[in-house]
Amino acid sequence: MRLNLSKRLKELQREVARKEKELARDMEMMLAFPRCKYCGSGHVVKFGTFRGVQRWWCKECQRKFVDNRALPGMKTPKEQVASALNMYYEGMSLNAIRRHYGRCTKTILLIARFMRGGKV
Ligand SMILES: [Zn+2]
Repeated sequence: MRLNLSKRLKELQREVARKEKELARDMEMMLAFPRCKYCGSGHVVKFGTFRGVQRWWCKECQRKFVDNRALPGMKTPKEQVASALNMYYEGMSLNAIRRHYGRCTKTILLIARFMRGGKV
């Protein structure tokens, strides 16, 4: 009886160790894989590279995206867009914003128009 219990205990310990390894691997995957820019789903797979930048495919909404901290379809990081818009609405000229960020005036105008709900 005692022999059986110690055998069972060892089996359980091995199973726990295996489960811990599986969990650690899953956590690594979750940290390495980004969330979808469009729907926020974690069901994404690698979708090749373009000019050295990893592209991703969302299995939920069937769309491609790049994990670059930018809004969907844009290259400019979100923080920079928000800051540029803030400057624009505070009355700074488009040329001054362009000089500050090195982005073209058209990008800033398009973002401003988009935020007002107009057509891009
Ligand atoms: Zn998605």
